[in-house]
Amino acid sequence: MGYSVVLQRSLSYSVKKGTRDISTVGFVGLGQMGSRMAKNLLKRGFKLTVFDVNEAAVTKICESGAKSAHSVGEVSENSEILVSMLPSNKHVLDCYIGDKGILSSAKKNALFIDSSTIDPSVSETVAQEADKRNIRFIDGPVSGGVNAAEAGTLTFMVGGSNKNFENATPVLEAMGSKIIHCGDKVGMGQVAKLCNNMLLAISMIGTAEAFNLGERLGLDSKILAEIVNSSSGRCWSSELYNPVPGLVPNVPSSNDYKGGFGSTLMSKDLGLAQTVANRTQTPVFLGSLAHQIYLTVVAKGYADKDFSVIYQFLKDVKKV
Ligand code: NAD
Repeated sequence: MGYSVVLQRSLSYSVKKGTRDISTVGFVGLGQMGSRMAKNLLKRGFKLTVFDVNEAAVTKICESGAKSAHSVGEVSENSEILVSMLPSNKHVLDCYIGDKGILSSAKKNALFIDSSTIDPSVSETVAQEADKRNIRFIDGPVSGGVNAAEAGTLTFMVGGSNKNFENATPVLEAMGSKIIHCGDKVGMGQVAKLCNNMLLAISMIGTAEAFNLGERLGLDSKILAEIVNSSSGRCWSSELYNPVPGLVPNVPSSNDYKGGFGSTLMSKDLGLAQTVANRTQTPVFLGSLAHQIYLTVVAKGYADKDFSVIYQFLKDVKKV
Protein backbone atom coordinates (compact mmCIF):
# COMPACT_ATOMS: atom_id res chain seq x y z
CA MET A 1 0.00 0.00 0.00
CA GLY A 2 1.41 3.45 -0.96
CA TYR A 3 2.22 6.15 1.57
CA SER A 4 -0.58 8.47 0.47
CA VAL A 5 -3.21 5.72 0.73
CA VAL A 6 -2.07 4.90 4.27
CA LEU A 7 -2.08 8.54 5.23
CA GLN A 8 -5.49 9.09 3.67
CA ARG A 9 -6.83 6.09 5.59
CA SER A 10 -5.42 7.29 8.88
CA LEU A 11 -6.59 10.84 8.43
CA SER A 12 -10.04 9.81 7.20
CA TYR A 13 -10.33 7.72 10.36
CA SER A 14 -9.71 10.80 12.47
CA VAL A 15 -12.19 12.84 10.43
CA LYS A 16 -14.89 10.15 10.59
CA LYS A 17 -14.58 9.70 14.34
CA GLY A 18 -14.37 13.45 14.88
CA THR A 19 -12.70 13.38 18.27
CA ARG A 20 -9.89 10.90 17.67
CA ASP A 21 -6.76 12.07 15.88
CA ILE A 22 -4.42 9.25 14.99
CA SER A 23 -2.17 11.43 12.90
CA THR A 24 -0.31 11.92 16.21
CA VAL A 25 1.37 8.78 17.47
CA GLY A 26 3.50 8.09 20.55
CA PHE A 27 6.53 5.81 20.33
CA VAL A 28 8.49 4.29 23.22
CA GLY A 29 11.69 2.27 22.70
CA LEU A 30 13.94 3.52 19.91
CA GLY A 31 16.48 0.70 19.65
CA GLN A 32 17.47 -1.43 16.66
CA MET A 33 13.87 -2.03 15.64
CA GLY A 34 11.98 0.91 17.17
CA SER A 35 14.17 3.64 15.64
CA ARG A 36 13.53 2.26 12.15
CA MET A 37 9.82 1.73 12.74
CA ALA A 38 9.45 5.27 14.10
CA LYS A 39 11.23 6.67 11.03
CA ASN A 40 8.73 4.94 8.75
CA LEU A 41 5.83 6.48 10.69
CA LEU A 42 7.41 9.91 10.16
CA LYS A 43 7.95 9.20 6.45
CA ARG A 44 4.27 8.32 6.08
CA GLY A 45 3.17 11.62 7.59
CA PHE A 46 2.40 10.71 11.21
CA LYS A 47 3.43 13.25 13.85
CA LEU A 48 5.47 11.46 16.50
CA THR A 49 6.15 12.06 20.19
CA VAL A 50 8.91 9.75 21.40
CA PHE A 51 10.74 8.56 24.50
CA ASP A 52 13.67 6.26 25.21
CA VAL A 53 15.90 6.04 28.29
CA ASN A 54 18.79 6.36 25.83
CA GLU A 55 18.97 10.10 25.06
CA ALA A 56 21.13 9.62 21.98
CA ALA A 57 18.40 7.48 20.37
CA VAL A 58 15.85 10.23 21.07
CA THR A 59 18.10 12.96 19.63
CA LYS A 60 18.61 10.95 16.46
CA ILE A 61 14.91 10.43 15.69
CA CYS A 62 14.16 14.07 16.58
CA GLU A 63 16.57 15.07 13.79
CA SER A 64 14.09 13.34 11.44
CA GLY A 65 11.16 15.38 12.78
CA ALA A 66 9.88 13.64 15.93
CA LYS A 67 9.12 15.54 19.14
CA SER A 68 10.81 14.35 22.34
CA ALA A 69 9.11 13.77 25.67
CA HIS A 70 10.76 13.60 29.10
CA SER A 71 9.08 10.39 30.25
CA VAL A 72 6.81 7.58 29.07
CA GLY A 73 4.00 9.31 30.95
CA GLU A 74 4.48 12.46 28.90
CA VAL A 75 4.30 10.44 25.67
CA SER A 76 1.09 8.73 26.69
CA GLU A 77 -0.72 11.85 27.89
CA ASN A 78 -0.32 13.25 24.36
CA SER A 79 -1.17 10.11 22.39
CA GLU A 80 -4.38 8.63 21.01
CA ILE A 81 -2.25 5.77 19.70
CA LEU A 82 1.11 4.64 21.04
CA VAL A 83 3.54 1.95 19.88
CA SER A 84 6.13 0.41 22.22
CA MET A 85 9.16 -1.66 21.16
CA LEU A 86 11.01 -2.74 24.29
CA PRO A 87 13.53 -5.48 25.11
CA SER A 88 11.61 -7.84 27.42
CA ASN A 89 8.82 -8.58 29.95
CA LYS A 90 10.31 -6.45 32.72
CA HIS A 91 10.68 -3.36 30.51
CA VAL A 92 7.08 -3.65 29.26
CA LEU A 93 5.72 -4.04 32.80
CA ASP A 94 7.83 -1.10 34.06
CA CYS A 95 6.84 1.15 31.17
CA TYR A 96 3.11 0.41 31.29
CA ILE A 97 2.17 -0.27 34.89
CA GLY A 98 5.20 1.06 36.77
CA ASP A 99 5.07 4.23 38.82
CA LYS A 100 4.34 7.14 36.41
CA GLY A 101 4.09 4.59 33.60
CA ILE A 102 2.16 4.82 30.36
CA LEU A 103 -1.19 3.80 31.87
CA SER A 104 -0.98 6.34 34.71
CA SER A 105 -1.36 9.33 32.42
CA ALA A 106 -3.16 7.91 29.39
CA LYS A 107 -6.30 9.43 27.84
CA LYS A 108 -9.47 7.37 28.18
CA ASN A 109 -9.99 5.04 25.20
CA ALA A 110 -6.46 5.61 23.89
CA LEU A 111 -5.05 2.60 22.01
CA PHE A 112 -1.65 1.16 22.91
CA ILE A 113 0.16 -1.38 20.75
CA ASP A 114 3.08 -3.30 22.22
CA SER A 115 5.32 -4.78 19.52
CA SER A 116 7.99 -6.16 21.87
CA THR A 117 8.43 -9.96 21.95
CA ILE A 118 7.33 -10.99 25.44
CA ASP A 119 5.41 -13.62 27.40
CA PRO A 120 1.73 -13.57 26.29
CA SER A 121 0.66 -13.57 29.95
CA VAL A 122 2.46 -10.24 30.43
CA SER A 123 0.53 -8.80 27.47
CA GLU A 124 -2.68 -10.07 29.11
CA THR A 125 -1.75 -8.50 32.47
CA VAL A 126 -1.11 -5.11 30.87
CA ALA A 127 -4.38 -5.38 28.90
CA GLN A 128 -6.32 -6.10 32.12
CA GLU A 129 -4.71 -3.14 33.89
CA ALA A 130 -5.47 -0.93 30.88
CA ASP A 131 -9.06 -2.12 30.77
CA LYS A 132 -9.60 -1.10 34.42
CA ARG A 133 -8.76 2.46 33.33
CA ASN A 134 -10.82 2.36 30.09
CA ILE A 135 -7.67 2.26 28.00
CA ARG A 136 -7.18 -0.15 25.11
CA PHE A 137 -4.10 -2.37 24.80
CA ILE A 138 -3.22 -4.94 22.13
CA ASP A 139 -0.11 -6.98 21.39
CA GLY A 140 1.47 -6.76 17.95
CA PRO A 141 4.89 -8.45 17.91
CA VAL A 142 6.75 -8.53 14.61
CA SER A 143 8.76 -10.83 12.44
CA GLY A 144 11.21 -9.56 9.87
CA GLY A 145 14.19 -8.13 11.78
CA VAL A 146 16.04 -4.86 11.27
CA ASN A 147 16.05 -4.99 7.46
CA ALA A 148 12.27 -5.34 7.31
CA ALA A 149 11.91 -2.66 10.02
CA GLU A 150 13.99 -0.33 7.83
CA ALA A 151 12.07 -1.18 4.65
CA GLY A 152 8.65 -0.98 6.34
CA THR A 153 7.91 -4.61 5.43
CA LEU A 154 7.48 -6.16 8.89
CA THR A 155 4.80 -8.75 9.59
CA PHE A 156 2.65 -7.77 12.59
CA MET A 157 0.86 -10.50 14.54
CA VAL A 158 -1.93 -8.86 16.47
CA GLY A 159 -3.97 -10.06 19.45
CA GLY A 160 -7.05 -8.02 20.41
CA SER A 161 -10.65 -7.21 19.49
CA ASN A 162 -11.71 -6.62 15.87
CA LYS A 163 -12.31 -2.96 16.59
CA ASN A 164 -8.91 -2.41 18.17
CA PHE A 165 -7.26 -4.34 15.34
CA GLU A 166 -9.00 -2.15 12.75
CA ASN A 167 -8.10 1.04 14.59
CA ALA A 168 -4.44 -0.01 14.84
CA THR A 169 -4.16 -1.09 11.20
CA PRO A 170 -3.41 2.32 9.56
CA VAL A 171 -0.49 2.83 11.94
CA LEU A 172 0.81 -0.73 11.55
CA GLU A 173 0.54 -0.51 7.75
CA ALA A 174 2.99 2.37 7.83
CA MET A 175 5.60 0.00 9.32
CA GLY A 176 4.70 -3.37 7.86
CA SER A 177 3.47 -5.09 4.73
CA LYS A 178 1.51 -7.87 6.43
CA ILE A 179 -0.83 -7.22 9.36
CA ILE A 180 -2.40 -10.42 10.68
CA HIS A 181 -5.18 -10.62 13.24
CA CYS A 182 -4.36 -13.67 15.41
CA GLY A 183 -7.48 -13.60 17.57
CA ASP A 184 -9.65 -11.57 19.94
CA LYS A 185 -7.59 -12.39 22.96
CA VAL A 186 -4.64 -10.14 23.82
CA GLY A 187 -1.47 -12.25 23.79
CA MET A 188 -2.36 -14.27 20.67
CA GLY A 189 0.14 -12.26 18.59
CA GLN A 190 2.87 -13.36 21.01
CA VAL A 191 1.67 -16.96 20.85
CA ALA A 192 1.92 -16.91 17.03
CA LYS A 193 5.36 -15.35 17.15
CA LEU A 194 6.76 -17.81 19.72
CA CYS A 195 5.37 -20.88 17.93
CA ASN A 196 6.79 -19.71 14.60
CA ASN A 197 10.22 -18.95 16.03
CA MET A 198 10.39 -22.26 17.90
CA LEU A 199 9.67 -24.07 14.62
CA LEU A 200 12.21 -21.90 12.79
CA ALA A 201 14.95 -22.73 15.32
CA ILE A 202 14.21 -26.45 15.07
CA SER A 203 14.21 -26.42 11.25
CA MET A 204 17.43 -24.37 11.15
CA ILE A 205 19.21 -26.76 13.52
CA GLY A 206 17.99 -29.74 11.45
CA THR A 207 19.15 -28.12 8.22
CA ALA A 208 22.56 -27.30 9.69
CA GLU A 209 23.01 -30.85 11.02
CA ALA A 210 22.10 -32.43 7.67
CA PHE A 211 24.45 -30.18 5.68
CA ASN A 212 27.32 -30.62 8.16
CA LEU A 213 26.90 -34.40 8.12
CA GLY A 214 26.78 -34.47 4.31
CA GLU A 215 29.95 -32.41 4.08
CA ARG A 216 31.83 -34.58 6.59
CA LEU A 217 30.88 -37.61 4.52
CA GLY A 218 32.30 -35.91 1.43
CA LEU A 219 29.11 -34.70 -0.30
CA ASP A 220 29.21 -31.32 -2.05
CA SER A 221 26.79 -28.96 -0.22
CA LYS A 222 25.57 -27.54 -3.55
CA ILE A 223 24.48 -31.01 -4.67
CA LEU A 224 22.85 -31.71 -1.30
CA ALA A 225 20.97 -28.38 -1.55
CA GLU A 226 19.69 -29.33 -5.02
CA ILE A 227 18.41 -32.66 -3.66
CA VAL A 228 16.92 -31.31 -0.41
CA ASN A 229 15.22 -28.37 -2.08
CA SER A 230 13.43 -30.59 -4.56
CA SER A 231 12.71 -33.33 -1.99
CA SER A 232 10.92 -33.84 1.30
CA GLY A 233 13.63 -32.20 3.42
CA ARG A 234 12.92 -28.81 1.86
CA CYS A 235 12.11 -25.91 4.21
CA TRP A 236 12.63 -22.14 4.45
CA SER A 237 15.98 -22.68 6.19
CA SER A 238 17.28 -24.95 3.42
CA GLU A 239 15.86 -23.08 0.45
CA LEU A 240 15.89 -19.35 1.19
CA TYR A 241 18.17 -18.93 4.22
CA ASN A 242 20.61 -21.83 3.89
CA PRO A 243 23.19 -21.77 6.73
CA VAL A 244 26.06 -22.98 4.48
CA PRO A 245 28.11 -19.99 3.24
CA GLY A 246 27.82 -19.29 -0.46
CA LEU A 247 24.75 -21.40 -1.28
CA VAL A 248 22.24 -18.52 -1.18
CA PRO A 249 23.43 -14.99 -2.00
CA ASN A 250 22.54 -12.04 0.25
CA VAL A 251 21.75 -14.03 3.40
CA PRO A 252 23.81 -13.76 6.62
CA SER A 253 25.63 -17.11 6.07
CA SER A 254 27.12 -15.67 2.87
CA ASN A 255 28.31 -12.59 4.79
CA ASP A 256 30.13 -14.10 7.80
CA TYR A 257 26.75 -14.50 9.57
CA LYS A 258 26.45 -10.72 9.99
CA GLY A 259 23.04 -9.01 10.20
CA GLY A 260 19.82 -11.05 10.22
CA PHE A 261 18.30 -12.40 13.43
CA GLY A 262 20.86 -12.73 16.23
CA SER A 263 21.44 -15.97 18.15
CA THR A 264 20.81 -14.06 21.40
CA LEU A 265 17.34 -13.03 20.23
CA MET A 266 16.58 -16.58 19.07
CA SER A 267 17.68 -17.89 22.45
CA LYS A 268 15.43 -15.34 24.16
CA ASP A 269 12.39 -16.36 22.08
CA LEU A 270 13.03 -20.06 22.73
CA GLY A 271 13.20 -19.28 26.46
CA LEU A 272 9.77 -17.62 26.23
CA ALA A 273 8.39 -20.61 24.27
CA GLN A 274 9.76 -22.93 26.97
CA THR A 275 8.10 -20.87 29.72
CA VAL A 276 4.67 -20.94 28.07
CA ALA A 277 5.04 -24.66 27.29
CA ASN A 278 5.85 -25.37 30.95
CA ARG A 279 2.91 -23.27 32.10
CA THR A 280 0.51 -25.22 29.90
CA GLN A 281 2.25 -28.59 30.42
CA THR A 282 2.76 -28.88 26.68
CA PRO A 283 5.48 -31.26 25.45
CA VAL A 284 8.04 -29.43 23.31
CA PHE A 285 10.93 -31.90 23.25
CA LEU A 286 12.69 -30.33 20.28
CA GLY A 287 11.81 -26.78 21.37
CA SER A 288 13.53 -27.42 24.73
CA LEU A 289 16.55 -28.91 23.03
CA ALA A 290 16.70 -26.00 20.58
CA HIS A 291 16.72 -23.62 23.55
CA GLN A 292 19.64 -25.47 25.18
CA ILE A 293 21.50 -25.50 21.86
CA TYR A 294 21.09 -21.75 21.30
CA LEU A 295 22.04 -20.97 24.92
CA THR A 296 25.28 -22.86 24.22
CA VAL A 297 25.80 -21.16 20.85
CA VAL A 298 25.51 -17.78 22.59
CA ALA A 299 27.82 -18.79 25.46
CA LYS A 300 30.45 -20.16 23.07
CA GLY A 301 31.06 -16.82 21.37
CA TYR A 302 28.51 -16.71 18.55
CA ALA A 303 26.12 -14.34 20.33
CA ASP A 304 26.38 -11.49 17.81
CA LYS A 305 26.00 -13.70 14.76
CA ASP A 306 22.80 -14.54 12.90
CA PHE A 307 21.09 -17.68 14.24
CA SER A 308 22.07 -19.63 11.08
CA VAL A 309 25.60 -19.65 12.60
CA ILE A 310 24.50 -22.93 14.20
CA TYR A 311 26.04 -24.53 11.06
CA GLN A 312 29.44 -22.99 11.85
CA PHE A 313 29.04 -24.00 15.51
CA LEU A 314 28.51 -27.65 14.46
CA LYS A 315 31.33 -27.49 11.93
CA ASP A 316 33.70 -26.21 14.63
CA VAL A 317 33.10 -29.35 16.73
CA LYS A 318 36.31 -31.26 16.00
CA LYS A 319 36.54 -35.01 15.45
CA VAL A 320 38.28 -36.78 18.37
P1 NAD B 1 16.97 -2.88 21.49
O1 NAD B 1 17.59 -3.34 22.77
O2 NAD B 1 17.85 -2.48 20.36
O3 NAD B 1 15.97 -1.66 21.77
C1 NAD B 1 15.17 -1.52 22.91
C2 NAD B 1 15.09 -0.04 23.26
O4 NAD B 1 14.22 0.11 24.40
C3 NAD B 1 16.45 0.57 23.64
O5 NAD B 1 16.68 1.74 22.88
C4 NAD B 1 16.29 0.89 25.12
O6 NAD B 1 17.03 2.02 25.55
C5 NAD B 1 14.79 1.11 25.21
N1 NAD B 1 14.26 1.03 26.57
C6 NAD B 1 14.54 0.10 27.53
N2 NAD B 1 13.85 0.38 28.66
C7 NAD B 1 13.13 1.49 28.41
C8 NAD B 1 12.23 2.28 29.18
N3 NAD B 1 11.95 1.97 30.44
N4 NAD B 1 11.67 3.36 28.61
C9 NAD B 1 11.96 3.70 27.33
N5 NAD B 1 12.81 3.01 26.54
C10 NAD B 1 13.38 1.92 27.09
O7 NAD B 1 16.00 -4.07 21.05
P2 NAD B 1 15.43 -4.37 19.57
O8 NAD B 1 16.39 -5.23 18.82
O9 NAD B 1 14.95 -3.10 18.99
O10 NAD B 1 14.18 -5.31 19.94
C11 NAD B 1 13.00 -4.78 20.54
C12 NAD B 1 11.99 -5.91 20.68
O11 NAD B 1 11.71 -6.44 19.39
C13 NAD B 1 12.49 -7.09 21.54
O12 NAD B 1 11.43 -7.54 22.32
C14 NAD B 1 12.93 -8.12 20.51
O13 NAD B 1 12.83 -9.44 21.00
C15 NAD B 1 11.94 -7.85 19.37
N6 NAD B 1 12.42 -8.20 18.03
C16 NAD B 1 13.67 -7.87 17.63
C17 NAD B 1 14.10 -8.21 16.34
C18 NAD B 1 15.49 -7.85 15.86
O14 NAD B 1 15.90 -8.38 14.82
N7 NAD B 1 16.22 -6.98 16.56
C19 NAD B 1 13.23 -8.89 15.46
C20 NAD B 1 11.94 -9.19 15.89
C21 NAD B 1 11.54 -8.84 17.19
